[in-house]
Amino acid sequence: MSFSDKTLVCRDCKQNFTFTAGEQEFYANKGLQNEPVRCSSCRSNRKTTRTNEPEEGYVRYGVFASFGGRTPRQMHPATCAECGMMTEVPFQPRGDRPVYCSACYSKVRPPESEGTSERVG
Ligand SMILES: [Zn+2]
Ligand SMILES: [Zn+2]
Repeated sequence: MSFSDKTLVCRDCKQNFTFTAGEQEFYANKGLQNEPVRCSSCRSNRKTTRTNEPEEGYVRYGVFASFGGRTPRQMHPATCAECGMMTEVPFQPRGDRPVYCSACYSKVRPPESEGTSERVG
């Protein structure tokens, strides 16, 4: 099966655009029978107007959400009681309670106990 460039008319902007042989092959490989009805710029326009998703790669740690470093929150330097590593916690560390880094925190406190909200301060 061979492909050759095809000129199509965009449904949105009524401009001619090329459905290239390479694209046709790509479509065929994906099992798509229909030709594209929009030019690539209209297609990407539709995509960008729809995009309202949070940034990719954003990891949430529950109570430790601030560890992503994106939340403008006051962080306090502390030493992990488990591994002794320097870490930062979103609350003022007190002597009466051990402070853990995010890695050790998830170890000592499995996520199952998420229902209990702790008071800080
Ligand atoms: Zn268009
Ligand atoms: Zn630790």
